[in-house]
Amino acid sequence: AKILLTGGSGFIAAHVLELLLKHGFAVVVTVRSEEKGQRILDSHPRTPKEKLSFVIVEDIAKEGAFDETVKSDPPFEYVVHTASPFHFNVQDPIKDLIDPAVKGTTGILKAIRAFAPTVKRIILTSSFAAIINPKNHPKVYSESVWNPVTLEDAMSPMETYRASKTLAERAAWEFLEQENPQFDLVTINPPLVFGPVVHHLNSMDAINTSNTRIKNMIQGESKSGLSLTGSYLWADVRDVALAHMIADIIREAYPEKKSILPPEDVADDLPVDVYGYDNKKSIEVLGLQYRTLKETVDDTAKSLLEIGPAS
Ligand code: NDP
Repeated sequence: AKILLTGGSGFIAAHVLELLLKHGFAVVVTVRSEEKGQRILDSHPRTPKEKLSFVIVEDIAKEGAFDETVKSDPPFEYVVHTASPFHFNVQDPIKDLIDPAVKGTTGILKAIRAFAPTVKRIILTSSFAAIINPKNHPKVYSESVWNPVTLEDAMSPMETYRASKTLAERAAWEFLEQENPQFDLVTINPPLVFGPVVHHLNSMDAINTSNTRIKNMIQGESKSGLSLTGSYLWADVRDVALAHMIADIIREAYPEKKSILPPEDVADDLPVDVYGYDNKKSIEVLGLQYRTLKETVDDTAKSLLEIGPAS
């Protein structure tokens, strides 16, 4: 099957790409520049052209940005939409974060509806940001909880990213309800994602937002203490990438994972009195077996140390 993977240069997308190629999918990634696309091809020297190629989508917020991209021969069956800005360096909340998140999502859905009738399923990388309700934590978080954040709240810098993810996921479900398209929608809602870096980084300073905490530690920037991350929950990027794979393929490839529970120490790592979480659905439906925090942090640190010397 052939898959369109947006935001191919990103931290999570790079892991999704590895898994898709490993399982024999033909993948077209979208990137923002020729240089970024070429780097992805260069890091897969043995992958043939028909299995991996790239197209340039410079700005997902632009009207019609995906209209040409979704037309492909042979046609796409699945689309994984990871592209969305994740940073706190916001000058203009709407232009910098809300528009690319929301219009990027509705834009790709519209383009697929109009121009790619063979697409059966869209996997959208949403976030725990679309679930968390920081002012009023429920006892247990699961996929059924929504962050009540509004567009107005998004103007406060701490809320902009969370609002961008919430409004984007809401817009996606609304699109499905109103348009009743030929495809179905799966959203993945990971909390803070740590893990080894497999995408190209010009330097350690270009590290993705969620790994910054570990980068800061190994560079000595957290010597005097740690700042709050705003989220107590985390996941390993390799588990998150696996969640993006189509469930039938996972069941086929990892039959032993279906009924296995996560190791006990995952739950023990969390301060249970803050709020609980219920990730049963990802275990039962997707067959995920979560890595331990120790393994994730060990491997992330190792990967980052390989990129550059700690200062
Ligand atoms: P990265 O910053 O590494 O990846 C983001 C990707 O989106 C990059 O490829 C980036 O391209 C692309 N992108 C951003 N804005 C635009 C735009 N306007 N036009 C085109 N492309 C754009 O972050 P992650 O891999 O962590 O994030 C990937 C997805 O996962 C996002 O949707 C994020 O919200 C979600 N997520 C991440 C979590 C985490 O802890 N890491 C947790 C939960 C969800 P470029 O690099 O060229 O700018």
